[in-house]
Amino acid sequence: MTTILDGKKTANALMSELSATVQSMIARGVTPGLAVVLVGDDPASAIYVRNKQRRAESLGIRSVKHVLPASTTQATLLQIIAELNLDPAIDGILVQLPLPAQIDAQAVIAAIAPDKDVDGFHPVNMGRLWTRQPGVVASTPLGIMALLNHYGISVAGQHAVIVGRSNIVGRPLAGLLLNQDATVTITHSKTANLFALTRQADLLVAALGQAEFITAEAVKPGAVVIDVGMDRNDSGKLVGDVAFDQVAPLASAITPVPGGVGPMTIAALMMQTVTLAKRRLNE
Ligand code: NAP
Repeated sequence: MTTILDGKKTANALMSELSATVQSMIARGVTPGLAVVLVGDDPASAIYVRNKQRRAESLGIRSVKHVLPASTTQATLLQIIAELNLDPAIDGILVQLPLPAQIDAQAVIAAIAPDKDVDGFHPVNMGRLWTRQPGVVASTPLGIMALLNHYGISVAGQHAVIVGRSNIVGRPLAGLLLNQDATVTITHSKTANLFALTRQADLLVAALGQAEFITAEAVKPGAVVIDVGMDRNDSGKLVGDVAFDQVAPLASAITPVPGGVGPMTIAALMMQTVTLAKRRLNE
């Protein structure tokens, strides 16, 4: 029988534990603070930001939103980040991507203090991950690891194949899996014979952003399949990168879309915010 890796339920369970942690921190005088910066009026970004803020507030995390017009200059955005870097009540700074074309996203990420870089995209945090030092890790990969852990799925010795090499999913996930003793193959749009590789995966992660691209022929029977994709199919329905109906019967475990990786991403973001805020307790 295939196990459905329920991200919604798992996130709720982790968040109720986290809520108790936040309450005890507040009682000791530290309210975790998250600053969310949204530039422009991309509707999907507005929804992501709203969901993150709602979750933060439900936990007792103080969430401060900066909404800036699409015409915002890079200098203005960098100035806001500089102020947030110095604000002692802010533990995590999140700049929602993508940014408008006139702003260099890498310059903005690099301007966030690495120890407030709650998304883990700063080169210092990426470097910490790849050199096995403690640091902040991107929320989606961290959420995937937490989901696997919740279901007792160990990756040690397993062959993990990741489809997609983005800075926010594929690369940091590869680092986390490697640090937990998986053997990792990272694939991308130039990979030859992609499905010959994906068929070798004990753990297959689809993070390419192509609706229902991973079909039954791409999957080894018994594999654990993690679907990061959030895509629209031809009829406008929200689907993943995996053709769920044909892959689920083959897999030993699989994440649904929606209700898999998405809720775990937000949960991981909250966990990171609280971890960053704990430093203020001087414990
Ligand atoms: P991205 O930056 O566009 O990267 C996509 C990656 O997939 C690239 O490395 C690309 O290869 C590779 N790729 C594209 N088409 C391919 C193909 N036909 N065969 C093999 N590799 C292919 O995307 P992303 O930001 O990582 O996001 C990926 C998906 O995850 C999207 O659907 C996004 O909406 C979703 N997502 C979900 C969450 C969540 O919380 N659930 C979070 C983040 C992202 P090249 O490098 O060669 O171009």
